[in-house]
Amino acid sequence: MLGWLRQSLQQRREARALERRPIPDTLWQLTLRRFPFLSLRSDADLLALRRLCSLFLDSKEFHGVDGFELRNDIVVAVAAQACLPVLKLGISCYEGFVGIVMHADSVVAPRELRDEAGVVHVYDEVLAGEAVGGGPVMLSWNDVYGTAPAAQGQPAYNVVIHEFAHVLDMRDGVADGVPLLPDAQTQVRWRDVFEPEFKQFCRWVDRGVETAIDPYGCEGPEEFFAVASEAFFVTPLALKEQQPAMYRLLMSYYLQDPADHAHRG
Ligand SMILES: [Zn+2]
Repeated sequence: MLGWLRQSLQQRREARALERRPIPDTLWQLTLRRFPFLSLRSDADLLALRRLCSLFLDSKEFHGVDGFELRNDIVVAVAAQACLPVLKLGISCYEGFVGIVMHADSVVAPRELRDEAGVVHVYDEVLAGEAVGGGPVMLSWNDVYGTAPAAQGQPAYNVVIHEFAHVLDMRDGVADGVPLLPDAQTQVRWRDVFEPEFKQFCRWVDRGVETAIDPYGCEGPEEFFAVASEAFFVTPLALKEQQPAMYRLLMSYYLQDPADHAHRG
């Protein structure tokens, strides 16, 4: 199809979606109050974010599980935080899935793990959220909103940004802490920065040093990318101060500089 025709069809589709899913002022203001790191953004960013939220709500299907009743403030809370990472990358990054499954609280999932000796360990994992490749994103509302915000000096905690960072990581087919990047050269540059930053972080956690990034990041590079993304958006000044190279790496990927907003805020 001709480029201009495709573009104009896309614009018309978006205009219809925006008409179908407007976000009322009171609901938008409530969302910004609930998640203060959003309200630090510039007016232009917030305008773009609100628009993306409408497109997100128009293209995704929310399901409440086990009698959990969805409300407008719940879906907008998820949409606003999910859209922040793709503010500059575009909503098409989330094209690979449709469903968002919401529980009232965290979920206990039975797990089996075979160790190197072949012994199978059976255990329960408590999940605040989960993202699977090509599948739905699962979130616990009590973890999205309800848990007390991290105290000053504590690592950031944000389950929505965490799970949607996994979605972005898995766009190239693997959850390995390397999101979809434009070319092989950029991938090499990514690993050159990411790997030493990851190792340094794990050394700090082992020694009991307080980190800007949630110590859960030591579980593996994919978790490090997800929790580093939480810190990047929620407590950017702390991340920039402790791991400036990691901050710059995320800046180059997300095409945003949240610390700049936090300074002004
Ligand atoms: Zn994770």
